[in-house]
Amino acid sequence: READDSIMAHRHAFTRCGVRISVYSNIDFKEEIEHLDSMGAEGVGLFRTENLFLDDLKPPKEAAQQEYYRKMGEMLAPKPLVIRLFDIGGDKLIYSPVKEPNPNLGWRGVRILIDVPEILDAQLQAVIRANIHGNIDVLIPMISSVEEIMHIKQAVEEHYKHIRSLTTEPLDKPGIGAMIEVPAAVELIDEITQIVDFVSIGTNDLTQYTLAVDRNNLIVQDLFEKFHPAVIRQLHRVISTAQKNHCRVSLCGDMGSDPLATPYLIGCGLREFSIVSSDIPALKAMVGKYTVEECEALAAECLKLSSASAIKAHLEAFVKAH
Ligand code: PEP
Ligand code: MG
Repeated sequence: READDSIMAHRHAFTRCGVRISVYSNIDFKEEIEHLDSMGAEGVGLFRTENLFLDDLKPPKEAAQQEYYRKMGEMLAPKPLVIRLFDIGGDKLIYSPVKEPNPNLGWRGVRILIDVPEILDAQLQAVIRANIHGNIDVLIPMISSVEEIMHIKQAVEEHYKHIRSLTTEPLDKPGIGAMIEVPAAVELIDEITQIVDFVSIGTNDLTQYTLAVDRNNLIVQDLFEKFHPAVIRQLHRVISTAQKNHCRVSLCGDMGSDPLATPYLIGCGLREFSIVSSDIPALKAMVGKYTVEECEALAAECLKLSSASAIKAHLEAFVKAH
C-alpha cells in the first residue's frame, strides 16, 4: 500500500477517459507544507488561518502574518496557495466578547471581518505583501450575501492600490474566492460566480446549515448526512452553475475524501478537490477507475433519488462494480 501510495502521489490524476482532476491539500499550519510533495498535493486549496489565533487567542500582528504567509508562498511556489481569511467564531475559536446563545448562527467568519476592520485590514495587507510569487489567492468564509463579497473585494482593491504605491516589489493582486457553505450562497450562486475568481464548496458547514444539524453535536450525529438529497442537489447546482459562468470551482469539505462521493462529484463536473493530504493518494487512485460519462450517468440517477439511503446504495453499487 505504501509503495502504491508513493507511485500515485507523483502522478497527476486522470479519469479512465483521460480527464485531468486536480488534487490540492487542506492544511492548518505552514509546517505541513514540507510533507505535501510526498503526498502528491498540487498546492494548498485551503489554509485555515484561524489557527494563527491559537497561541494567544488574539489576532496575530500584520508583520507576523506577512512573514508567515510569505514563507508559505515561497515554499509552495509555483504551486498555488489559497489563504482563507480568518473563520473565527461559531464552533471554532470563540472571539465574541459576549456568550452567544447559538454561536453557529452568530458572529462568525466574514461577519466578524466586516465588523472589526482592524482584523480584516491587517490580514489583507499581510496577504497582499506576501504575494511576491503571485501564487496566493484569498478565500472568504461563511458568505451569505453578495454584499459581503463586494465589501471584501473593495477592501482588497484599496489595500492593493495603496501597497503598490508604496513598493517597487512585483506584487500580484490575489484572486478572490468565496466559500459556498451556507444555503443562501447556493441560492445566489449564479450572481456569486460572476463576481469572484473561484468558489470552494465547504460541505461540512453546508450540510450543517442545510439540514439544521450541528456538525459537532453527538446527539444528532446520525442526522448529519452529506448524502442527503438536499445536499447532493445543491452540490450539483453549485458546480454546474459555476461551470456555466466559467468560474473555477473546487470542493474543500471532508466529503472530498469520501470514496463514495468521488464519482458523483466528477459526474456533476467537479475537477478540483482539496482534501487532507493523507487522503490524496487514495483519491488519485480512485479517480482513475471511472470515465466522466459513467460518472455523469451516475450523477443523473442520484439526482432523481429522494433519500440518503437510496443515494448511498446507488453509489455503493457503482463503486463496487468498478
Ligand atoms: C467546510 O465547512 O466544509 C470547510 C471546509 O470549512 P471548515 O471545516 O473549516 O468549517
Ligand atoms: Mg466551514
